[in-house]
Amino acid sequence: MGVGATLTREALERAIRNNELVLYYQPKVCLLRGVVIGAEALVRWTDKEHGLILPDAFLPLAEKSGLLHDLTLKLLDQIVDASQLLRARSSAGAESGTDADAMPNMEPLSLSMNVAPNDLASRTISNRIKELLETNTIRPADLQIEITESAAMSNVDKVHDDLCRLKNMGIKILMDDFGTGYSSIDRLSQLPFDALKLDQGVVKRMKTSRQNLDVVRSAISMARELGMTSVAEGVESASVYNFLIAHGCEEAQGYYISRPMSFADFQDFLSVEHSFAGSQIGRVHQASLDLMRYRKMLMDAIFCARLGKGTVLESVAEPGLDCDVRESRIGSWYYGVGQYLSQHSVFAQIERPMQEVHASGRRFLQLIHSGQSTSELESAMANIDLQVGQLIGLLHRLEHVLLASSAESLQ
Ligand code: C2E
Ligand code: CA
Ligand code: CA
Repeated sequence: MGVGATLTREALERAIRNNELVLYYQPKVCLLRGVVIGAEALVRWTDKEHGLILPDAFLPLAEKSGLLHDLTLKLLDQIVDASQLLRARSSAGAESGTDADAMPNMEPLSLSMNVAPNDLASRTISNRIKELLETNTIRPADLQIEITESAAMSNVDKVHDDLCRLKNMGIKILMDDFGTGYSSIDRLSQLPFDALKLDQGVVKRMKTSRQNLDVVRSAISMARELGMTSVAEGVESASVYNFLIAHGCEEAQGYYISRPMSFADFQDFLSVEHSFAGSQIGRVHQASLDLMRYRKMLMDAIFCARLGKGTVLESVAEPGLDCDVRESRIGSWYYGVGQYLSQHSVFAQIERPMQEVHASGRRFLQLIHSGQSTSELESAMANIDLQVGQLIGLLHRLEHVLLASSAESLQ
């Protein structure tokens, strides 16, 4: 950009005061349904002399000169205004009873904002958000927070309390640039992330080697294992977009969908009907993996029971095992976004066996706790295996149905 050297603290301070720093919005698409679900807000400096200045050219100066804090608060105000306008737009659509074809993109939209560790350490952002929620100015689903993996992981102490506070308010927290830092699963679970946002470098390198494909695939699986949403950024082509769909990645963002744009342009973008591809084919595959994991936890429970107390880690058989089917991994898919597949008859056939597997699982745990003989446990487990097998068969059939319809809709 070449303007970095000429930018001064005074100029930046003036620009913040004069509202020359504005947010651009880059749409995010739900890959499972092919609809726009929100946007990431990205700051731009619109300077008379230099034109549009990108954040990398002035954010370091803002941080160094102690201006970031004021800047973030101003940007939060802009997001709130934008969010209210978007909400008014979708309620106007809902009230007028306009159908989705006549007025596209009527989904409730969520806007995400980027924050730095210092923004969180000072608590001003979370205090302000709390106020906005308490006065009903925004709802928790209107706003999401993005913090980069490296910033979060090298400042765990600094950001931990505030992230937990925001999460408790119902605000979703995204780990940005995932794949560029050094998170282990252990460290990831220290902070309350709802989503992993795959770094665009990682996403772009997918095209260069099989190994990079595997990195993306395992990051999607890791997010699922941890109960987090997977988001890919830097999606620039149909082939990458479709690969992400095939592997169950849930959300995407990138030039292939749209570049970041002014709020007015974003509103125009929303008023035009877009036909983004979407399919749950990869997500259904993930659901069958969830089921295999559930079965494995039951096997672990029987394994622990056989070896006896003191010789196994009690936590191997997760306490969450006896949960209600709706709260299980597979159930939260089925009763959540899965419901958009209800037009397929095979989808309806899944519900009963899925409930039965969970009921059998609960009974099985009771058998274990009541000290049943090994042979009884084994025959109960064999019965569960039959149910799991039947359910996996149905999920595979659903994948085939979706394959046939994807072939028509995916480019
Ligand atoms: P980020 O949060 O990782 O944002 C994504 C960046 O990738 C944005 O650059 C976006 O314009 C760009 N991008 C999006 N899709 C594509 C694509 O398909 N291909 C390519 N090549 N690039 C794509 P941008 O806007 O220059 O922002 C750079 C970074 O500045 C952001 O990276 C974020 O870390 C930071 N940033 C932006 N706005 C804010 C803000 O309001 N506050 C704070 N603290 N940081 C911000
Ligand atoms: Ca970001
Ligand atoms: Ca990023």
